[in-house]
Amino acid sequence: MSNNHLSFFASVERNFDKAAAHTGLPKGLLEQIKVCNAVYQMRFPVKIGNEYQVIEAYRVQHSHHRLPTKGGIRYATSVNQDEVMALAALMTYKCAIVDVPFGGAKGGVKINPRAYTPFQLEKITRRYTTELIRKNFIGPGIDVPAPDYGTGSREMAWILDTYATFKHGEIDAAGCVTGKPVQQNGIQGRTAATGRGVFYGLREVCSFKDDMKKIGLEAGMEGKTMVVQGLGNVGYHTADISIREGGVKLIGVAEYEGAIYKKDGIDLEALVKHRKETGSILDFPGAKNLKNREDALELECDILVPAALENVITKENAKRIKAKIIGEAANGPIAAEAEDTLLKKGIIIVPDMYINAGGVTVSYFEWLKNLSHMRFGRMEKRFNSNTYENLVGTVERLTGKVIGPKEKSILTKGADEIDLVNSGLEETMVEAYRQIRDVFVRSRKIEDLRTAAFVSALRKISSDYQNLGIFP
Ligand code: NAD
Repeated sequence: MSNNHLSFFASVERNFDKAAAHTGLPKGLLEQIKVCNAVYQMRFPVKIGNEYQVIEAYRVQHSHHRLPTKGGIRYATSVNQDEVMALAALMTYKCAIVDVPFGGAKGGVKINPRAYTPFQLEKITRRYTTELIRKNFIGPGIDVPAPDYGTGSREMAWILDTYATFKHGEIDAAGCVTGKPVQQNGIQGRTAATGRGVFYGLREVCSFKDDMKKIGLEAGMEGKTMVVQGLGNVGYHTADISIREGGVKLIGVAEYEGAIYKKDGIDLEALVKHRKETGSILDFPGAKNLKNREDALELECDILVPAALENVITKENAKRIKAKIIGEAANGPIAAEAEDTLLKKGIIIVPDMYINAGGVTVSYFEWLKNLSHMRFGRMEKRFNSNTYENLVGTVERLTGKVIGPKEKSILTKGADEIDLVNSGLEETMVEAYRQIRDVFVRSRKIEDLRTAAFVSALRKISSDYQNLGIFP
């Protein structure tokens, strides 16, 4: 790559170097944190129809300072080694930021999943898993994949089944992959987790009155306008939860086939229905079709959520971005060369390694559930519920008043798995943002949240290395 267009991994390295300068950590330690520890590039044949296709695929383990390593698997034609290395590196920093005790990893299979039938995808997924098993690149204590762009719970179920077949009798086999269907050792809330985490993160960012004042906004999410690029797993749930729980107005959506704008707000469910029926988000009643799908990024709005792929905001279009806040739901949506232009405009960039960490956080909960062989809430739900009922009964007796049945059922509810997962996720996102903001506010030299997030991550990773007795 030429100097004026950095590769994705080089972009991550550049951001790392910018932050490293603020840490005072020794050079050797920084180098050890920065590099990818293991890169596995593979090619394997899969019979598709009457022909064999040679599939190119990767698994990168960026950091072994904590095990297992963790990160999604991407199915896309754009997959290449540089991209998987960059995504694996981001996973290391992401896990540190949200205090998830894993090293970073990522996988990629260079295919267009839309070009294959489910049967063919299953063959490819099972063969990919077999390659990972063969090289000891998967296992509950080794490396634990999850969904990413182009994959979902279906693929994760195939991975587990393949792994469990080879590792018959391994008691913790279910923890070899996360993002599985709930009925197949998954966890409630994982599918929406990344989008829900984006919402909690943005809500926290917007809660600081002084920060909002600087960009001409009121504190709070209510009434803020949002534009989302990519209505897949992350984009859809971010929009859905932001509308329902945050009172946000969704005014623009970009998808593969184009982009739409509707000033008074898009009804998301109606849009999804429209897309199902017509095969496109375009021509949605009451909305305006934009000329190019990328135009959505340039709409005037409070919050822009790129939730498709990397490098969509470049040096070229950065100057035309009008959003006040950009929540990097996708990994690496802002090219490193575009960052300065956006920061100079005063835009708050909420970095990927923080804002989309909800997925890995709930994956961590799923992994813990698999290792404990028990769903969350099983032990305490009824006990808590009985305790609250006794309390309510005592209050009724002492006051001589009766609490209505609806109110009573809310007051006496014991927590289900989904309640615990969402509250653990909320706590994680709120706490991590406070840590990052604290680094940002205390330092007079750090100019952006991404650098602050990196600094926060580097401090934690370096102390992990010290605890290991390496780099004392
Ligand atoms: P997905 O495949 O479910 O959805 C991506 C969507 O983007 C698809 O609907 C696709 O049609 C659309 N899209 C592709 N190119 C587009 C373009 N140029 N303009 C508009 N839309 C376009 O993928 P996902 O899991 O939602 O992942 C999206 C991003 O979020 C990726 O960068 C991924 O690494 C990141 N991410 C995902 C997770 C997760 O839990 N799935 C977690 C963290 C980060």
